Amino acid sequence: MPKIGRNDPCPCGSGKKYKHCHLPIEEAKQAEQLHLRRAVDTLIPKIITAAQEQTDAIPAAYDRFWDGKYTLEQMSELDDLEGRGAERFLVWFAFDYVLEDGSTLAERLAGASDSDFSTEEQQLLRSWAPVRLRPYVANTVQKGQGMTVSDLMDGSRYEIVDHAASRRVLVDEVLVAHLVPAGEAFFIGGAAAHLTEDTRSKMREFLSLHLEAMQRDDPAAGWPELLHTRSEVLNHFVMQLPVEEPNPSLLESIITQTRASLMLAGESLGLGKRDDAAE
Ligand SMILES: [Zn+2]
Repeated sequence: MPKIGRNDPCPCGSGKKYKHCHLPIEEAKQAEQLHLRRAVDTLIPKIITAAQEQTDAIPAAYDRFWDGKYTLEQMSELDDLEGRGAERFLVWFAFDYVLEDGSTLAERLAGASDSDFSTEEQQLLRSWAPVRLRPYVANTVQKGQGMTVSDLMDGSRYEIVDHAASRRVLVDEVLVAHLVPAGEAFFIGGAAAHLTEDTRSKMREFLSLHLEAMQRDDPAAGWPELLHTRSEVLNHFVMQLPVEEPNPSLLESIITQTRASLMLAGESLGLGKRDDAAE
């Protein structure tokens, strides 16, 4: 869009100068967007801290997210073992894990009239309550600015503002992330898993198997139901990937093993898979 001069006629056609018509409105909008953006940066750490305080609920959630692979004592090593694993777990716990009262921590925080949160943070929290972990494909990347992604499962497109991620991510790569809205833009909430392009079709196949298994109990279930109740399976896929080089035969064996274990687990598949996975 060409830049409009302050003294130019306003493009809305009012006949007034831009500075006396839509310029102040635009400026207010930009200021609000900036405030919201700053609130994203302060709110995420607060959510992570609130998650760390849920010491009663963490053990069961941790087991589910890591599929029994790590002990709680290993939490501090997870950032090395699993690329920012501790933070990815805590963000998942806050947004996706259903607590005893039937709500997620994010939903609980959104409902609380808490003076720990600024007005902007409270506004964000209300719009963040429905956010869950999902897989996205990068469609376009503007290095150091942001990117356009589409949901791997339903194809919905989002404009993400993110300096750090857009520096590393390439077109067609996969992000397993919490996309949080702030005004007109989306941001990546906390740490995300970043996967190479070759994982894209296997991830879809992997999730299809899980959906198929879920539909045995609930024939009407679709992607939203799967990702709303079992989004940890996304991490189970991520956990099995090689850290170094792409490995097509390993991707294939993830699918084969998933198919086998879902068949074996049958109807009782889902929570508490740890025992079923024993050899
Ligand atoms: Zn105007």
